[in-house]
Amino acid sequence: MEIRIRDEIRRFVAESPGNRFPDGSGPYFDEPLVGFAAAEDPLFGDYKRIIGAFHLTPTELLEGAATVIVWVLPITAATRMTNRMESDWPSRKWSLTRSHGETLNGQLRRHLVAHLEGLGHRAVAPQYSPAWQEFADTPVGIASTWSERHAAYAAGLGTFSLSDGLITERGIAHRLGSVVTSLPLPPTPRTAPDHLHNCLYHREGSCGVCIGRCPVGAITFAGHDKLRCREFVYGAAPREVGERYGVQQTGCGLCQTRVPCEAVVPP
Ligand code: SF4
Ligand code: SF4
Repeated sequence: MEIRIRDEIRRFVAESPGNRFPDGSGPYFDEPLVGFAAAEDPLFGDYKRIIGAFHLTPTELLEGAATVIVWVLPITAATRMTNRMESDWPSRKWSLTRSHGETLNGQLRRHLVAHLEGLGHRAVAPQYSPAWQEFADTPVGIASTWSERHAAYAAGLGTFSLSDGLITERGIAHRLGSVVTSLPLPPTPRTAPDHLHNCLYHREGSCGVCIGRCPVGAITFAGHDKLRCREFVYGAAPREVGERYGVQQTGCGLCQTRVPCEAVVPP
């Protein structure tokens, strides 16, 4: 069954007209990576301590939850290339991916819920659950009731970076999605030695290239200033280039391109 679910996610992304730039220049995303975490994985309990008591477990989101299905939508090389050339603002292709590509990601969440329900299982996309909330001021800064990055880590898809992203086998330039379901599936093993292993700085104290890529100094060797980043990503960047690109959300991703972890786990 896990192959069937993986194939359905890949098929939807490959065939969906929503995964195409309006000018016909190709897809927003390459083939997804897919992982599964057991709903009863103790990590989800640990997240209440690490992130906050407000962070929900799969069972709190869905009674009888058995599995968290998580996917990584890798941003294409053509789009990454355009963002690499930028230093102040995100590129047009990057911004369209953040805006329209995320719409496709939302369609995938809803499609997978309907698909699982069609197979006789219960399912919920945490981001669209009535229980979903965001909090502006927590001990870990801005946070919500469900972190897709943490779900992706639990599902063996990557480890955390200095810049607060998730470095997967396809790198850090991606969008993530997740669905909690009552369908039992075998959990994907977490093969990294620790939760920070894929980042060169965390692994061996080197690199730090993402620090120099951030136009507002939101990354230092001490970590990522979420508030400063957010003011740029949701404020300055869309104000400056949103209208020109014809989108409301531009993202940024400068720290995710022209860096060693852009598209691979750096050796
Ligand atoms: S650029 Fe280097 S330090 Fe920054 S997240 Fe990537 S691997 Fe880590
Ligand atoms: S997304 Fe942009 S603003 Fe945020 S840390 Fe990365 S480079 Fe800086």
